[in-house]
Amino acid sequence: MLGYKKRIILIHHELGIPDSYENKYALKLQKEETKLVEIGNDIYGRLQRLIPLATSAWAEMKEHAQKEGVTLNIVSAFRAVDKQRNIIYMILGSGQTISEILKVCAAPGYSEHHTGRAVDFTSTECEPLSEEFENTEAFIWLNENAKIYSFRLSYPKNNLLGIAYEPWHWAYSQA
Ligand SMILES: [Zn+2]
Repeated sequence: MLGYKKRIILIHHELGIPDSYENKYALKLQKEETKLVEIGNDIYGRLQRLIPLATSAWAEMKEHAQKEGVTLNIVSAFRAVDKQRNIIYMILGSGQTISEILKVCAAPGYSEHHTGRAVDFTSTECEPLSEEFENTEAFIWLNENAKIYSFRLSYPKNNLLGIAYEPWHWAYSQA
C-alpha cells in the first residue's frame, strides 16, 4: 500500500492536485483492483469489467430489471488509476482548471471505479452522466431494487463528501 500511495502522490503532483485534496473531499484512497471479470460492453462498445462478486450481483439485477421491462445500460465500470490520470490530463489540456475538474471528477487513486465495484448506469431516456437520470424509469427501479443486490448510490444529493450528486453512480458493497 505504501508503494501505491507514493505512486498516487507522484501522479497528483504531476496533475497539480493539492495535498489538501483528501481532507477537502473526505474521500479515501481506493484500492486498485486487479482480479476482474468481463461484464460485456458499455453503450460505447467498450468491454467493461468488475470484481467477480459485483459481476454476479449485476447479472442478477439486470435480469430482474429486464423482467420488469426496465433496461439498465452501462456507461463505465472498472477504471484503472492510469486511466483516471489520462482523463484528467486531457481535460486540463482543454483549458479547465484542476479545481474545476476535481469538483466533478475524483482524483486518481480516489475513484470508486478503481475498486471494480462501481458502475455508472444510464438509460435511453437521458444523456449519459446527467442529473436527468434521476427522472428515468431505470433510476426509479434502482432506487427500489438495487439494495437487494447490494448496489447502493454512492453520492446522493447533499452528501457529506463534498461530491456533486451522481444519480447514475452505484457501487456494490456487501456491508
Ligand atoms: Zn461513477
